[in-house]
Amino acid sequence: PAERASDSKPSIWVEYTQLAVDCKAVNLGQGFPDAPAPKFVTDILRNYSDNPSLTAVHQYTRGYGHPKLVKALGNLYSELYSRENLDPNNEILVTVGAYLALYYTFCGWIQEGDEVIVIEPAYDCYVPQIKMAGGKPVLISMKKPKDASSSSDFKIDFKELRAAITPRTKMLVLNNPNNPIGKLYSREELEEIASIVKENDLIVVADEVYEWHCFEKPMIRFASLPDMYERTISIGSAGKAFSVTGWKLGWAVGPLHLLEPLKVIHQNCVFTCSSPTQAALADAFDIEHAKFKSDPENSYLLKGLSKELKKKRDFLAENLKEAGFNVILPEAGYFMLADFSKFINTDDQKTDEPRDVFFSKHLCRNMKLATIPPSAFYSDKKGKMENDTMIRFFAFFQSKLMKRWKRPGKFFI
Ligand code: PMP
Ligand code: GLN
Repeated sequence: PAERASDSKPSIWVEYTQLAVDCKAVNLGQGFPDAPAPKFVTDILRNYSDNPSLTAVHQYTRGYGHPKLVKALGNLYSELYSRENLDPNNEILVTVGAYLALYYTFCGWIQEGDEVIVIEPAYDCYVPQIKMAGGKPVLISMKKPKDASSSSDFKIDFKELRAAITPRTKMLVLNNPNNPIGKLYSREELEEIASIVKENDLIVVADEVYEWHCFEKPMIRFASLPDMYERTISIGSAGKAFSVTGWKLGWAVGPLHLLEPLKVIHQNCVFTCSSPTQAALADAFDIEHAKFKSDPENSYLLKGLSKELKKKRDFLAENLKEAGFNVILPEAGYFMLADFSKFINTDDQKTDEPRDVFFSKHLCRNMKLATIPPSAFYSDKKGKMENDTMIRFFAFFQSKLMKRWKRPGKFFI
């Protein structure tokens, strides 16, 4: 294989999804909702599929995004970023999931040897994507106190962040809310990041796919901070917004000067994404957006999703605590970290893999419960080993799945 594709092993999703199937385990690993998708969303898609004569829906559509969808996203983000003049035809690019928006961003902006700041734990595709684009990931790792109990306990060391910046630094990747921690950055933290990126003239890749999954406080979109729109590529996901991860539609929003190279790659690699799901998504966003003012209490994005998710988060937290885990309660997102150090006796581990890998494999094989080891979200050895007594649980599952998992009472090895 080409060098840029040669240092890879199966990703954590490839490996652990197979392991869960092989072990016939209850899967709280990979994040996808197992409850039915919202009916109003699937009804829209069904109406389109029932109407084969709709050329604009069943044939290729506009390359950079279905006209209806970019319009709907433009209206939505104009409001969310408080920008009256967001031009949907220039400042939005629809992609195959957030994954591709991220990859276009790195490929479109990174010159060989450019440095990109990644804050760990970080979603696992950033580092390989940056490397494939010819860049050098520069990792800083969030600090957490030993007795952390909330995702807000994880903090960036801003001195470390400033020290990591060199004349080659081009970008900073900010995942808010964060996967896997569930951290929701505070205004102070975001403002500090904003002043650093301004001082150093950096581009920000704001991966905000969990923007609608906040439990108590709403999130602050990075592009809405003063002067930040001009230097930010914000990334979203239909899969996360409407709990339809299989639709694989995502988008990048930003000023034309930042989106231009992404569009060049897109027009030659994908050209256009699936039309019926784009059309359906546009209608779903329009319906929702109208409710923001007229009927916020019944809006899926403003209320329904986070309400349902919070119930499940609390259910999971309660069960994990009862079983003896030390739970780190997330402020947002799909996931929950829980510390298992109480259960392990390090002498039992004969391998030199991180303890979370060892423990999660034990859980999957022997307790029939699949989880994800967060060491997959660290690429440096030190970060992996310092933070390896937690596992990540997917929280947005149906409760009946939890019942199928016969709680063994103890998890000791
Ligand atoms: N970023 C983060 C933080 C994610 O958790 C995910 C999950 N899939 C993605 C990007 C990719 O999203 P999509 O499925 O829309 O490609
Ligand atoms: N984003 C999801 C997660 O973190 C799914 C990842 C994937 O399937 N590639 O679990």
